[in-house]
Amino acid sequence: MSGKIIAYANQKGGVGKTTSAVNIGAYVAEAGKKVLLVDFDPQGNLSSSVGADKERSGAYDVLMGTSPLDETVQETTVRNLFVVPSNIDLTGANVELIEEKDREFFLRNAFAASKLEFDYIFIDCPPSLGLLTLNGLTAASHVFIPLQCEYFALEGLSLLLQSIRRVQKSLNPKLGIGGIFFTMYDSRTKLANEVVQEVAGYFKEKVFKTIIPRNVRLSEAPSHGVPINQYDTSCIGAKSYQKLAQEVIHRV
Ligand code: ADP
Ligand code: MG
Repeated sequence: MSGKIIAYANQKGGVGKTTSAVNIGAYVAEAGKKVLLVDFDPQGNLSSSVGADKERSGAYDVLMGTSPLDETVQETTVRNLFVVPSNIDLTGANVELIEEKDREFFLRNAFAASKLEFDYIFIDCPPSLGLLTLNGLTAASHVFIPLQCEYFALEGLSLLLQSIRRVQKSLNPKLGIGGIFFTMYDSRTKLANEVVQEVAGYFKEKVFKTIIPRNVRLSEAPSHGVPINQYDTSCIGAKSYQKLAQEVIHRV
């Protein structure tokens, strides 16, 4: 498989990993790039968000080698945007892989065996630092870290960075931090501003300029099975993800 492989990771749930993978993916695709979304969370939220058929073979089969990746890829309603779905079966992979040799390399090997060509492959990691996320980080060349603008975001961040460093050392030396971005920003709260200032001061150019605000339209779109660019193109959430997608194309 060709393409830049980017893992969206943060062991905290509800920080905007899935929403960002879907909507950045949709706008990068709209810009003419071919994008594959890999749902790597047993909750399958990403699959639902793009209207994928979760009953067909997906990430679990790819990991276990029961379906070649190329046969699991589904089209979406957005041109140039494709998805490998997942469902609750993927929970089993955590357990089944634990006994395997080189258990962190299964996703990378599945990508290596694929003949498909994309410009970008986005892996939507689950909210943990377990074997699935390790497979995602081992397969990727870049990791994107969405942060919710709240105090505890920073607490979790150091643990995530430790894991990334460990992966860089032992599993995947070519992994780099592709960027950090803020989601669900509420400009009215002082704390949100402080968190942004602190993270930006520390991580400098790693932080994307575009900040994703809290916007109810972004949370409504998934129930219609389409990304924001096919639900409400004029809302602030859509405009923000479009801008962030441009930054992503420019940077990676
Ligand atoms: P994660 O994948 O990190 O668990 P999600 O992307 O699923 O996080 O987001 C968690 C919840 O917050 C979802 O219900 C999603 O629709 C909602 N959400 C995400 N981003 C925003 C936003 N910018 N504004 C409002 N709601 C959002
Ligand atoms: Mg998610």
